[in-house]
Amino acid sequence: MTENAVTPKAFGTLYVVATPIGNLEDISQRARRVLGEVALIAAEDTRHSARLMQHLGIDTPLQACHEHNERDQGDRFVARLLAGDDVALISDAGTPLISDPGFHLVRRARSAGVRVVPVPGSCALVAGLSAAGLPSDRFIFEGFLPAKAAARRARLSALREEPRTLIFYEAPHRVLECVADMAEVFGAERPAVLARELTKTFETIRDLPLAELRDWIAADPNQQRGECVLLVGGWPEPVGEDALSAEALRVLDLLLAELPLKRAAALAAEITGVRKNLLYQVALEKKS
Ligand code: SAM
Repeated sequence: MTENAVTPKAFGTLYVVATPIGNLEDISQRARRVLGEVALIAAEDTRHSARLMQHLGIDTPLQACHEHNERDQGDRFVARLLAGDDVALISDAGTPLISDPGFHLVRRARSAGVRVVPVPGSCALVAGLSAAGLPSDRFIFEGFLPAKAAARRARLSALREEPRTLIFYEAPHRVLECVADMAEVFGAERPAVLARELTKTFETIRDLPLAELRDWIAADPNQQRGECVLLVGGWPEPVGEDALSAEALRVLDLLLAELPLKRAAALAAEITGVRKNLLYQVALEKKS
């Protein structure tokens, strides 16, 4: 293979290959070629992947590499790689390691000195973000939230003041309760997007404030089926007066009643520890 040109001759390469998340046309030409050329494919579910391989006309042997056997099986795959065989790692759908198995194998391969090569392609979180219309310059991926309500709410509360766009994977039977919790914790008005069945026949990408999204999902059982990504706008950092605590505002008001604006803002900053510039801006707004 061309990629092997710079690989130490004795070792094989571990290719981490993305497969489609729905639409089979999304397999890349390179993924096709690599899957056909490697000695072995490490697959999350061999029966599931056998169908994709059949569709692609590929008869490379498949071996299971899932979350329950990844640690034990990892050594075997690494042994094959060290013996010079190229191996491709795939998951049931999308990019391996992204809420999918593969991390232990990749780490073992790398620490054994094996070259690990990504063959990028579909990934539900990136597909969702690319079409959601939420800020995409900075975002965080939280994967699956805890299934139990108390733990889920605790996790959401910890994320309440996260300013970056938040991305979650969620199971269809939990999407309604999850969006309801989000509306409660993040606020009814926070912008959100449900990206469902991406690249498939019933693809739906709906953007609404959280409380409206909750009601929309509740009213239509179809929205509680299939696979989905939830995206939520980041915390809108309060500006001006809203950014100050009640106590800081009280101090500023008292000082403004007695002193010139600049002096009041400087003293209030010393007393409260709040940034002088912010206090000065708020004082200006008050005066005008
Ligand atoms: N490795 C995959 C990736 O690259 O996106 C994710 C695997 S994770 C086990 C499966 C979750 O991904 C689903 O529960 C859903 O949240 C999301 N997902 C996968 N395919 C999707 C699709 N076609 N549309 C929306 N979400 C999808």
